[in-house]
Parts: sequence; structure tokens; C-alpha cells
Amino acid sequence: MILVIFGPPGAGKGTQSDLLSNKLNIPHISTGDIFRSEIKSGNQEMIQYVEKGLLVPDSVVNMIVERALKSDNCKEGFILDGYPRTIDQANSLENLLWILKKKINLVVNLSVQEQVLVDRMTQRRLCQKCGAAYNIVTMPPKKRNICDQCGSDLMQRKDDDPDTVRKRIHVYQTETAPLIDYYKKKKMLHNVDASKKPNEIFNSIVKIIEKEVKATS
Ligand code: AMP
Repeated sequence: MILVIFGPPGAGKGTQSDLLSNKLNIPHISTGDIFRSEIKSGNQEMIQYVEKGLLVPDSVVNMIVERALKSDNCKEGFILDGYPRTIDQANSLENLLWILKKKINLVVNLSVQEQVLVDRMTQRRLCQKCGAAYNIVTMPPKKRNICDQCGSDLMQRKDDDPDTVRKRIHVYQTETAPLIDYYKKKKMLHNVDASKKPNEIFNSIVKIIEKEVKATS
């Protein structure tokens, strides 16, 4: 099973990809996570893009994704979160999958209104240690700024400040949203209302997957 979880920043791509990865037992490949971990381990090249809410150049992203998808743990399938984000990346993915004799089963488009996205991202806090996610308004930790699961401090992503959030949404609208038509024309796109609660969104995606599996088996 090859899934692309698509949508604007703050739509919940990471949360849904994690849930689906557990259910389907296939890896969750998040380009954002790959870049954040590169930055953490000292690769300064990405900071200028990631922390300012700009896209990392296609050539760099495509190379990193190619390496990840050719690895053994992706043999049985994978979930792409945050990739592709441009038409160039989508074409590169198509070529790579053609070489690997694979194809995308579904592209799930998580759609949410802009104000909901801004609220979600500016209210998001993450555990520095275990990565658990909170929302200071809708899902706060029991103790202010402390992770319920491991007791470490929570932090805000540098690109979750209001100005950068607006920039990321603008970048999404200009560079990434054209992919909606790209995948619609290929009849791969499935829209999901992502303004709902995470478990409701998850159930909707699972239904779409089950329908697809039934139709192709
Ligand atoms: P995300 O965690 O998906 O919101 O991504 C965080 C940041 O990583 C983005 O704002 C970009 O700077 C960078 N990034 C992640 N995925 C891509 C991609 N496919 N193409 C270009 N930049 C990306």
C-alpha cells in the first residue's frame, strides 16, 4: 500500500500518518521530520528554509526521498507525509515509482479552513524528548508545559510562530495546492474533511482505504 497524505500545514498529516502507519504496519515517511532531524544533528543547510517556512529545493528533497523509498523497510509500502509539495516533486516521485515498479494507491487530501490551520499551528506544542503533540487550548497537558507521557519540557516549533505560519500557508497555496488538480486528473484524489477530531478523520481515511482495497482485489 502506498499512500500520500496531502494537505496544508496544520491539517494533521503527521497525526494521521502515524495512526495509519500503526494500523497498516508500513513506515511513515515525513520529509519535515527528516529535515528537523538533519538540523538537530548539525546540518545547517536546511535551517534557512525550514525555520523560515520556505520549501527546501526540489533537487535536495527528491534525493532524500529517493534514498528513503529505496530502503528495505519501504518494500511493503509506505505513507508519504509532506511530499510531494510541488509539481516537480510529484513528477520525480512518479518516475521513481515507475523505476521501482510501484504505484500510488491513494492520495488523501486533508482539507481545512485557513483560520483553523493558523489556530492549530500557533497553539501546537511538542515534547522535546518523545515528540508527543499537544494543543494548549483543545488538548493541553495536565501540567503546564510538561509532557504527560515522559515529563520533559514542551516546546513550540520555530516555524509555528504566527508570521511563519502565514508564510507557510501562502507557500502551500502557491506551490503545493496545484497538486490537487494534478492528482484529481489522475483520479487518485480523495478529499477528507480535516476540521473534525483526529479519530473521526482517521475513520474516514480507513473507510476510503477499505473501499479502494475492495475495488482492486
Ligand atoms: P512539515 O513538517 O511537513 O510541515 O515541514 C516543515 C518544513 O520542512 C517545511 O516548511 C519546509 O521548509 C520543509 N519541507 C518539508 N517537506 C518538504 C518538501 N516536500 N519540499 C520542500 N520542503 C519541505
